[in-house]
Amino acid sequence: MAAKLYSFVPLMQAAEQASLKGHPSAVGAFNVNFYAQAEGILEGLKRAEAPGIIQASKGANKFQGGADKIQYMLLKAMDNMKFGNPIALHLDHGDTKSAKDCVDKGFSSVMIDASKLDEPQNIETTKEIVLYAHAKGVGVEGEYGKLAGVEEDIAHENTTYADPKFVPVFLDRSGADALAVAYGTSHGPNKGKTSALNVGIVTESYAGLKAYRMNTRYFLVGHGSSTVPKELVDEINRFGGTLKGTSGVPDYMIKNAIKEGIRKVNIDTDLRLGITAVFRKYLSDHKDIEKKSEILGVIKRVFSGETPAKDKDGNPVDSGGLVDPRSYLDPVMAMDPGILREDYRKLKDEAFIEVMNMVRERIAEHVKGLCVMFGSAGLASQVDTGMTLEAMAAQYGK
Ligand SMILES: [Zn+2]
Repeated sequence: MAAKLYSFVPLMQAAEQASLKGHPSAVGAFNVNFYAQAEGILEGLKRAEAPGIIQASKGANKFQGGADKIQYMLLKAMDNMKFGNPIALHLDHGDTKSAKDCVDKGFSSVMIDASKLDEPQNIETTKEIVLYAHAKGVGVEGEYGKLAGVEEDIAHENTTYADPKFVPVFLDRSGADALAVAYGTSHGPNKGKTSALNVGIVTESYAGLKAYRMNTRYFLVGHGSSTVPKELVDEINRFGGTLKGTSGVPDYMIKNAIKEGIRKVNIDTDLRLGITAVFRKYLSDHKDIEKKSEILGVIKRVFSGETPAKDKDGNPVDSGGLVDPRSYLDPVMAMDPGILREDYRKLKDEAFIEVMNMVRERIAEHVKGLCVMFGSAGLASQVDTGMTLEAMAAQYGK
């Protein structure tokens, strides 16, 4: 395959350079689980002429049967689309084992989330991954402070805010390239009150990096930054969903966090909601779909509650509350992983191709809009493509 991946470092560097020139900018990091979603994200980046970070969680890797499968899926999508913008494939919320595995399997950056440990241990654990990853030019993101909400195996009830004065110290001691700083955002579709947000933590952390002249080499990351649009939630509920109490981070607050120094913005929930809305509407518009498509019939039975839905840990999920596509795509994965890993247009299932095209388009438009909002639109040409993984490894080795 001809497609290649970059570390997220030159991408965030381009965003920092643009920001220093008065054009606040952050690279969007979009979670991926299956092929049409990968193409949708890439198509959105293409339309926005933006660089991008495609990220897979441990759960996504498990869903696809391994980190190597996700890497294959993304490169395949890039090749099929003749995609040329600089892209990083990133592990979201990894632990020591999964981070090393992803470095071995061809990811170009990884996150090690040791935020449940105390600070000295967090730094030690992060540093272990930095040494392992940097030898191959792979970038590393750490996490400092605790984000509220549930993400993979890590669930925190309340935010423990990062101490901005300690941010440059954390980066310097660990050697991580990027740091997710907890400033009050949370994971999932229920982001709580915006009064929990303290963007001042970003402002002060970034000021610290600038004071030590670290800002073109180390970058701040904002997690839990989906906007959770009300129209999207309403659409899901209009077609049988029962989502309640959802709330996101308003656009202006995300823009402000970027202006104050965030250079990577994580988006997962919004894409999940968009995908779920497409499926719900399609199934509602096509009542006898199981007669035309075996695959969509399998998915329909999860939405109707006939097949019990499970979350990533195997716990039951009420069919009205479905948000995570993996919950209703899992039985399809069990039929044949190729359905969700390879180009779906090769399948002899017109209805499934139609709905996957709709998913792809829905994601593409959403991602394009987010890139405009993040200030990364038009930035693809500003990334230093000489900074290959080999060049990064050589630079770290000096
Ligand atoms: Zn996160």
